[in-house]
Amino acid sequence: MSERDMSMGSPGKTNGTVPWQDDCRDGVRNVRDLDRLPLSPQERAAAEAAAAIHKIRAPKSYLDLIDWDNAADPIRLQVIPSPEELEFDEGELVDPIADHAFSPIPRLTHRHADRVLLYPTYQCAVYCRFCFRKESLTSIGRGYSREALEAAFAYIESHPEIREVILTGGDPLSLPDKALAEIRARVEAIEHVRLLRIHTRVPVVLPSRVTDEMVAALQGRLMVTVVTHFNHAREITPATEQACRILRHAGFVLLNQTVLLKGVNDTVDVLEELCRELMYRLGVKPYYLHHGDLARGMAHRRTTIADGQALVRELRARLSGICNPVYVLDLPEGGGKVPINPSYAEAQDGSTWQFRGHDGKLRTYAEIVREP
Ligand SMILES: *Cc1c(COP(=O)(O)O)cnc(C)c1O
Ligand code: SF4
Repeated sequence: MSERDMSMGSPGKTNGTVPWQDDCRDGVRNVRDLDRLPLSPQERAAAEAAAAIHKIRAPKSYLDLIDWDNAADPIRLQVIPSPEELEFDEGELVDPIADHAFSPIPRLTHRHADRVLLYPTYQCAVYCRFCFRKESLTSIGRGYSREALEAAFAYIESHPEIREVILTGGDPLSLPDKALAEIRARVEAIEHVRLLRIHTRVPVVLPSRVTDEMVAALQGRLMVTVVTHFNHAREITPATEQACRILRHAGFVLLNQTVLLKGVNDTVDVLEELCRELMYRLGVKPYYLHHGDLARGMAHRRTTIADGQALVRELRARLSGICNPVYVLDLPEGGGKVPINPSYAEAQDGSTWQFRGHDGKLRTYAEIVREP
């Protein structure tokens, strides 16, 4: 398969809106295409320089969500390069969560015994400015081929402890249906694998790509979970709603991960609306809220952990349990994702605890257990 994954597939297959191939073609695919957009001279200059570090791409329908009169539009900030992206701080990392150190085989990361990340492509429908994998996407950059994944499949076959295969990348749903069917068939032939997980921004940024043919390519023996990546309620539209409906009706479990981004979604009102609408309108359970990792040139988008915890505490008070994500930090050096939700326990004296309730009052809980 060629490097240009997004150009593959039969034209005309769509979920009812503009054919997705047109949506990609009419969007931004490189720096030159930015000329069509009403950017500031500063943004244009930054884009030229930033493109060398992280490619530029966004479908037209996603760009159409931007209010160009607002320099701080939350969708604009996710896809249009800013000059600050070029400012690297001491301590930032090329590979923030050590995907490479835990990669025994090309295109695969194995950090937790029972699950692996598999990278069928290093290309995406959109290039998010904050992506923690941006340096791999730039330096590796390759698309899908069956041969490129064969060693990774052999590795999974020889590790019976692996139960979940997580397709990530790059964006797996940027691949043609034929490639998805091939990958799904290869994974489900490995008997010990139970669940196929797909981490994707396609339902958000290119919802017309989600079609009945696509879900058919993914259906088979395995339980399928699609983990979407919505960062703002403004990304929830009739088209994304339709894409999620197709995925839900296919019987897939839908979860969402959000990256906490300063200036984009770091207020409790924005997160509340996002999490509420994800669950109630899209049927997508908020799974993780990721604290900003140490990707280079992203200091301007990171909040402090204390600020994140204050947001999450208020969110928990406002929204039901199913609408609440877990706030996590993916530790450097491959330490894994650790929950960093605020603690409600304020003191412990033997078996007596003090907890702060949602009403702000401290309450005592004395443990009563029967000793064996
Ligand atoms: C995030 C991640 C996973 C998935 O973790 P969950 O907590 O199960 O969602 C698996 N492997 C690696 C290497 C990861 O970074
Ligand atoms: S779609 Fe995912 S992998 Fe691709 S640039 Fe965005 S965050 Fe990174």
